[in-house]
Amino acid sequence: MLVPVFTLKLNHKILPRMVALGRYDGTHPCLAAATQAGKVFIHNPHARGQRTSANRMVQSTQDSEISLLNINQGITCLTSGALNPQLGYDCLLVGTQTNLLAYDVHNNSDLFYREVSDGANAIVLGKLGDFSSPLAIIGGNCALQGFDHEGNDRFWTVTGDNVRSLALCDFDGDGRNELLVGSEDFDIRVFKEDEIMAEMSETETITALSPMSGSRFGYALSNGTVGVYDRTARYWRIKSKNHAMSIHAFDLNSDGVCELITGWSNGKVDARSDRTGEVIFKDNFSSSIAGVVEGDYRMDGSTQLICCSVDGEVRGYLPGGEEMKGNLMDTSAEQDLIRELSQKKQNLLLELRNYEETAKAEVSTQLKEADGQRGVIPANTQLLTTLSVNLGSDSQSAHVELCISTSNDTIIRAVLIFAEGIFEGESHVVHPSLHNLSGCLRVSLTPPKDVPVDLHIKAFVGYRNSTQFHVFELTKQLPRFAMYALSSPDSAPEPLSFVNCATNERPQRIVMWLNQSFLLPEDAEFQSPPFQVCFTSLRNAGQLCIKVKPGGELAIKDLQVEADFPAYFEELRKVLVKVDEHHAVNQRLTAAMADHSNLIRSMLVQAEDARLLGDMKNMKARYMELYDLNRDLISQYKIRCNNHTELLNNLKAVNQAIQRAGQLRVGKPKSQVVSACRDAIRSNNFNMLFRIMRVGTASS
Ligand code: CA
Ligand code: CA
Repeated sequence: MLVPVFTLKLNHKILPRMVALGRYDGTHPCLAAATQAGKVFIHNPHARGQRTSANRMVQSTQDSEISLLNINQGITCLTSGALNPQLGYDCLLVGTQTNLLAYDVHNNSDLFYREVSDGANAIVLGKLGDFSSPLAIIGGNCALQGFDHEGNDRFWTVTGDNVRSLALCDFDGDGRNELLVGSEDFDIRVFKEDEIMAEMSETETITALSPMSGSRFGYALSNGTVGVYDRTARYWRIKSKNHAMSIHAFDLNSDGVCELITGWSNGKVDARSDRTGEVIFKDNFSSSIAGVVEGDYRMDGSTQLICCSVDGEVRGYLPGGEEMKGNLMDTSAEQDLIRELSQKKQNLLLELRNYEETAKAEVSTQLKEADGQRGVIPANTQLLTTLSVNLGSDSQSAHVELCISTSNDTIIRAVLIFAEGIFEGESHVVHPSLHNLSGCLRVSLTPPKDVPVDLHIKAFVGYRNSTQFHVFELTKQLPRFAMYALSSPDSAPEPLSFVNCATNERPQRIVMWLNQSFLLPEDAEFQSPPFQVCFTSLRNAGQLCIKVKPGGELAIKDLQVEADFPAYFEELRKVLVKVDEHHAVNQRLTAAMADHSNLIRSMLVQAEDARLLGDMKNMKARYMELYDLNRDLISQYKIRCNNHTELLNNLKAVNQAIQRAGQLRVGKPKSQVVSACRDAIRSNNFNMLFRIMRVGTASS
């Protein structure tokens, strides 16, 4: 059985997900972790006791191996690595809601300290795409930003929602890294530099991403799911009632392939096969895991897997050698496995017995009644499924209807549907009461997002008095735009907003796309262009009209479009005005706070002078004033906090608008739109911003 090669007890709490290992002097690996009260501690077991405490970092008074770095703000992300390869040693990166600090631990000095208005929820350090030097990339409020070692802002783009996890991985196998971004809209997006090359929809916020071998990567969701993807295909996933706090790829059984190591909120650590998700090793800590990293902490030339708990317990594991033959778990784990397998065997035997009895019944000449009880149904029974749009009586009750029916007098006892992102818990069971049994069952679906979803359907078919049922299994795809109902062009006024683009697709291909992406009635027909199709959104009754006009043959790789969304742009204009106001309020409050601090200082001095002179009356008066001032400061601070929260929300709306403007374009025009929008915002030129969003370029 695999046991830790070292265990440490650090006397500091560790904040979840904020653990990093770096060679801050170029040689000795040290653990760095965020701890309480806005501090980072650095554990250096190879200390030589020569550090000074003139800057941010001070030596701990209790433990000579620990130094404390004061950030004085809630830490939101942390990592380390070689940001400047010329230095030959790692730097420490610490992000907060407002700043990013790159710290030279060895020299106890800042490399840079940058204000980041979109916050830093997640960080990754490494090479991205064609950038020649490593970047520290942070993800915040719908935005991604990359800094070089001098703190120059070299990379900026926007994404769909608040970023919660980042990883660098050669997703397409071209030898250069892409950026994986996990966000609060449940999407994993893959950025090839600033262009999105793939998008995978998950079922919850993506809290962690970790590159594995090649184009494979691990992921964790906020609902206790972990799994592995290879490019856009998911290999496996498992769901636990605990939360995955940290994931890391590490070859623990020395077979040359990395396992996915997960540290869980209940203190468990497990290693799972990248291919199957099978557990090959597990261990338990007495408190939640905070982080999983790797490094040669013993400095003996081997690399250890290092797990840290929130209570400061650290264990290092060496990969299992040849003599273990990949058996990393103790015998009790083997017994668990045997128990699990014999349970499986029992179930299979039971199933086999059922089959045997059914087979017996089929060969004998029993009455149909008895057949029905045993769930024997006519051999030609078919299960039919159709999807249609049901407008309901109002927009609240509009839904997509899945109708499941049998082809004869059999009834459907129950239906189980598995579909990601549609049902809470991913599954839905329909189980009609006995007097409502029939051969047809309707299920209403309201997919929240426009993504194609596979519906895995299991239907129990038999007769009213059956005790056993035949199970039909089938998969049906819900098209991407299922929540839009075909409507007559004159049923509602034409929308004011539009997108206009040229394409070299043949009209037949456009009709094919319409058929694949929408739920059209069977009799829907399209003429040759020009024609138009109109849809009504089931979510908000909004109108969508697609007009197809004939044009010359064009060869287009990049897609530039003209787009106008008057109502949306008007809303955005209001948001931009609010952003300006919030910035102004922030500046005013900062100035007022500075004034107040000066006032406090002088009052304190006056009060103390009065005390020393025995002038109690004046002392009391000064302290009363101080008390009032303090109260004012606290209320101002609250205003400042609210102002900041609103500012963040508004900035998020602006970033999302830029992202939407970008998504209307393809290829180069897309990245041009995003960067031109950012320039327009930097120079506070709102008219320019709207022009870019409309026509895709700043110049006329
Ligand atoms: Ca690549
Ligand atoms: Ca392995």
